[in-house]
Amino acid sequence: MHPGYEAVIGLEVHVQLRTRSKMFCACRNAVGAAPNSQTCPVCLGLPGALPTLNAEAVRMALALGLAVEAQIQPQSTFYRKQYFYPDLPKGYQITQGPVALVEWGHLDIPGDPRVRGTEGPVRIRLERAHLEEDAGKSHHDLDGKASHVDLNRAGVPLLEIVGAPDLRSAQEASDYLKALHRLVVALDICDGNMEEGSFRCDANVSLRKKGDPAFGTRAEVKNLNSFRFVRQALEFELERQAERLEQGLPVLQETRGWDAVAGETRGQRTKEAAMDYRYFPEPDLPPLTVNAAEIEAVRAALPELPEQQIRRWREAYGLGPDEAQALAQSRAFAAYFDTLARLSGSGRGAAAWMLGEVSRTLNELSLGIEAFPLAPDALAGLVRLVEARTLAFGTAKDQVFPALLAGEGTADAIVARRGLAQVSDRKAIEALVATVLQAHPGPLAQIRAGKEGLKGFLVGQILKAGGGRLDAKLVNEVLAQVLVKD
Ligand code: ADP
Ligand code: MG
Ligand code: ZN
Repeated sequence: MHPGYEAVIGLEVHVQLRTRSKMFCACRNAVGAAPNSQTCPVCLGLPGALPTLNAEAVRMALALGLAVEAQIQPQSTFYRKQYFYPDLPKGYQITQGPVALVEWGHLDIPGDPRVRGTEGPVRIRLERAHLEEDAGKSHHDLDGKASHVDLNRAGVPLLEIVGAPDLRSAQEASDYLKALHRLVVALDICDGNMEEGSFRCDANVSLRKKGDPAFGTRAEVKNLNSFRFVRQALEFELERQAERLEQGLPVLQETRGWDAVAGETRGQRTKEAAMDYRYFPEPDLPPLTVNAAEIEAVRAALPELPEQQIRRWREAYGLGPDEAQALAQSRAFAAYFDTLARLSGSGRGAAAWMLGEVSRTLNELSLGIEAFPLAPDALAGLVRLVEARTLAFGTAKDQVFPALLAGEGTADAIVARRGLAQVSDRKAIEALVATVLQAHPGPLAQIRAGKEGLKGFLVGQILKAGGGRLDAKLVNEVLAQVLVKD
């Protein structure tokens, strides 16, 4: 992008709440049922049917609001947003306005040093989070002969989270979305399934000349359902807008779609063609009121939040920000890590295994941590052996870990049966070092002549001579001593 411009981005995120029933009726909120089997007069919009607000959805919205330290509005109201579409049987969507239950919170993300000029976190404000209902789903036959409407999703509770235009790069937008995703999953208010649309995002984006206090005209890229698409769509869009501005052309206020195959955004409708939703207050629902006791009850039930976990792990185990964030990827992953760290007695060791071999195995098998075949105590046995330097890391990784996965018993038993214990016997290592040095007089002479870089070669030879079971730290120590002595 042209260096004279600054990106301004604000995300609107739709979070499907995992309540048992729908927003305004008792129908089940679950995917996978036969089309139109989970419907009733309320969510079908039949005349005379009256909505009743779902208390669980309110509790979930409050949990999000408290987690982002927002202002909870003691009284908020519902609106009707009118438009005509086959999957919207009532002809309007019930949404919150002008006052939302949750207003002005914030979320801290790692700032993008390339645009901020400094390292460190930045605070992104959330303008509001409001409750609303989802529409149904239309399916179009590939031959174009028929379309089908499934209203099971009509009336499913959504929390729309409107972020302030505080993001300054595609990277920051993706980091913000990840932080929000971690949060709603940790709060257990959303299943976080982006492919199925449980967590989806519209990205508003504009450019302005650096130092210009006024915002430029924005485009809104609709329905981005992966972190990668958000980054790619925004990178494309920023480039496109910069080119237009450079050519003296205006950026149009319009809605755009992301074509993942072509890797570009495409105009859909401009402001002139924008719909007039004819908002008006919902006459069938009283204002939503929440009192202090209700708010405090939700606050008391909040779990430890990802940002708190990340801080705790960094302080207790000295983990880096990226490691800690990766460990907080889901509630189950974080819980597994916490247990592994406790049982193995090593937070750093546990983190290395979780982000290394465990993650690699999960990817290979396309499994989530919930289905990982090893219980934390079984893996802890292995981590302990490595941390105590009873087992070389390489042997642990290449031999014991696969054997553990194959169900060959505990780490201790596998190491004993296969004779894999690490050699930490100084005398034995000194003898091996002497043998290897004798076998490589050339490199030895070169090291003495100042070619320090060859030490690594010798260490490699010594470890190899020890069958991969030597304590590498001790090998380095012994070699250094021998080299000094001579
Ligand atoms: P609307 O309801 O028409 O979508 P809002 O004022 O509610 O408009 O803004 C929606 C989103 O657009 C918010 O996430 C906000 O941060 C973002 N936004 C507003 N102005 C800009 C801008 N100039 N550039 C980028 N994003 C913007
Ligand atoms: Mg919008
Ligand atoms: Zn219903």
